[in-house]
Amino acid sequence: MTAAWVPVDLAAVPARATGIIAVDAGRIAANWRALAAQVAPAECAAVVKADAYGLGASRAVPALAQAGCRTFFVATPDEAEQARKLAPQSEIYVLDGVLDAAFLASVSARPVLADPSDVSLWTHFCGSAGAKLPAALQIDTGLNRRGLSPTQFDAFVSRNTKSSFDLALVMSHLACADDPASPMNWKQREAFLAGHQRLQGIPASLAASDGLMLGKPFHFDLVRPGYALYGGQAFGGGGAPVEPVLQAYARILQIRTVPYGETVGYSATWRTKSTRTIATIAAGYADGVFRHASGSDDKAGGFIAVDGHLCPIVGRVSMDLVTADVTDALARRGEATEPPQWAELIGPSLTIEAVGARAGTIGYEVLTRLGRRFHRVYIG
Ligand SMILES: *Cc1c(COP(=O)(O)O)cnc(C)c1O
Repeated sequence: MTAAWVPVDLAAVPARATGIIAVDAGRIAANWRALAAQVAPAECAAVVKADAYGLGASRAVPALAQAGCRTFFVATPDEAEQARKLAPQSEIYVLDGVLDAAFLASVSARPVLADPSDVSLWTHFCGSAGAKLPAALQIDTGLNRRGLSPTQFDAFVSRNTKSSFDLALVMSHLACADDPASPMNWKQREAFLAGHQRLQGIPASLAASDGLMLGKPFHFDLVRPGYALYGGQAFGGGGAPVEPVLQAYARILQIRTVPYGETVGYSATWRTKSTRTIATIAAGYADGVFRHASGSDDKAGGFIAVDGHLCPIVGRVSMDLVTADVTDALARRGEATEPPQWAELIGPSLTIEAVGARAGTIGYEVLTRLGRRFHRVYIG
């Protein structure tokens, strides 16, 4: 990734803030434009569920709408209500289906009907409201999660000759799109194509961030990226035409020398093998640093970065604190300079993918687990 990072003005962080999360909303919009250009003439929607993957729907949705995005996907009815306020002119689809038909209608949101019960709830609601309201239909092509099964879809098609609602989109979701070599991608596409052909003329959508990278045959009429908008490289090895948008830094509260043979942190899981310089940083699992990134004698953990130099997390990650071995980073800095005040958690030296991998998870979870205690700024 050769992106020029907008530097975060750490000197301007309020003294009482233990850390800062900087989100480049301009880049979220730029990422959407790059993906939209890649898939044209297909339409590029934006998935903004879970508060825009933790980055802040209140900033992401207006930025995306201004960039030209017309279709949004959220998971819950409450998220739909928020998105409606932020993007009054857009189409908003609710992935979790018809939990509350009247509420969805009141915010002009469209449910994704993904179960026969969804279909009948929306059918009855439209009947009693006397209006053919729009909805999407999700069909299952192998994920065995949401979506009508092949038998349920057969029943839907034969019963639905004169639909009582407006079927605006037919969609499905891929299981293995992060592996371009997986034969499952093409199997699911074939099943989707067959289903789509039975609903003639309805716009179709199959691909999310990584499905979109599988190329034109997967684009259909509309693509639904989420993660890529937020700078994520879901596709193994990268290649999505997007730039990272998130930086997170935490204050270094203390730096101390720990002699040979002592332990650091709860349960004494990490012991010095020589004299080490240990930084205690004001970030913990309450801020989104995974406890699974703890470093022990038995298992290396994650990293923080000082001056762009990676420093291993040593000892247990606790609720509010992380300890890291900064011996080498400080040696590079030299004796004369002031001690460092900030540790990078996510940014130029630590991608969300790298942070996730070191904690046994994925960048998606890194984003959505960001805590609420840090100072937040939107740049760009
Ligand atoms: C979350 C979600 C997406 C977006 O997935 P990304 O991998 O973040 O792009 C698209 N479609 C459905 C059905 C989803 O649940």
